[in-house]
Amino acid sequence: MRASFSEFSPSGSERAQPQRILHRYATIGAMIARETHRAEILDGRTAAAQIKSEVAAEVAALKSEHDVTPRLAAVLVGDDAASAVYVRNKIRACEEVGIASDHRTLPATTTTGELFSLVSDLNRNDDVDGILVQLPLPKQIDESVIIEAIDPAKDVDAFHPANVGLLAMGRPRFVPCTPAGIIELLDRNKIEIAGANACVVGRSQIVGRPIASLLLQRNATVTICHSQTRDLPKVTRQADILVAAIGRPAFIRGDYIKPGATVIDVGVNKVTDVDEARDYFGNEAEKRIEAIEKRGYTLVGDVHPAEADRVAGKRTPVPGGVGLLTVAMLMKNTLQAAKRRRGL
Ligand code: NAP
Repeated sequence: MRASFSEFSPSGSERAQPQRILHRYATIGAMIARETHRAEILDGRTAAAQIKSEVAAEVAALKSEHDVTPRLAAVLVGDDAASAVYVRNKIRACEEVGIASDHRTLPATTTTGELFSLVSDLNRNDDVDGILVQLPLPKQIDESVIIEAIDPAKDVDAFHPANVGLLAMGRPRFVPCTPAGIIELLDRNKIEIAGANACVVGRSQIVGRPIASLLLQRNATVTICHSQTRDLPKVTRQADILVAAIGRPAFIRGDYIKPGATVIDVGVNKVTDVDEARDYFGNEAEKRIEAIEKRGYTLVGDVHPAEADRVAGKRTPVPGGVGLLTVAMLMKNTLQAAKRRRGL
């Protein structure tokens, strides 16, 4: 039978009549434990800082032992504000860990041929170890032509079909940064993957498919869900590890989550409505409403944070979760590319 979220969350009238919810629990202690439960937050900041400091140490060693400084070329096409922020964050991370970077910007009117030609130049440039073309590209550009143009040995985003194929075969050369970051976060927080029921909601090339592949390689029992999945909450409620990569604000509600599960929220969605923010953020709502009033929006993931807090054992926050890991893993992939290209 499908559990309703009301099992975990009292309604307004129940809040006024605690005896009405007490009957659901064997003891008052059990009731207090459930009603005051708050998921542990899996802080992406700590894990990202650890990874970056490990990369920085290896970059320094590469320089002193081999006189090599890894170099990342980041290509931004057009004037999408979010993409510009992502590229800026990646360049800043390069500076933090000692990786050299080239920031190439092209106008929104760039053609597939012009971008192809820049990528070919970067492929030939022996000083460049990693090439990153920020997606999405303006609609006149054929994204697959560009992804396939990148030298697989410099493909630090791991989107080239050769790298996708290697990952699917279980012998990855590069692992896409967001899924790789999720695995790091689980490992560094000692969350057991082997034997766990893992459920991934979303089957994109960038997140859903590769994280499902990685969880399977780590011996989880993996279910992949998508927009055609029947009775989604029934499926997701089986998961010890639930990964949400959907692109819909607060889509995963409390009744989608198995009590005590680890919930990884990949989504990044803007919230501009104050009432929505009040619903999503519980105790944090006032801070989030302030952000909306100041800059017009706040961010929420694909998981309803206030409801997840009452059911999940652990969850990643948005912002401050998976996104930070993504950038850290890009640094790790660029370092790896630099070493591998030189046989080190
Ligand atoms: P995407 O390519 O749009 O894929 C979304 C997936 O969600 C699709 O597989 C889709 O199913 C599924 N879906 C949509 N509606 C659904 C529903 N009602 N029930 C079940 N499944 C549903 O998105 P993406 O690129 O994977 O990104 C997902 C989210 O992660 C976005 O918010 C994005 O901004 C964020 N993201 C964050 C990072 C980071 O570093 N933090 C990195 C990448 C992406 P179908 O295949 O059936 O259409």
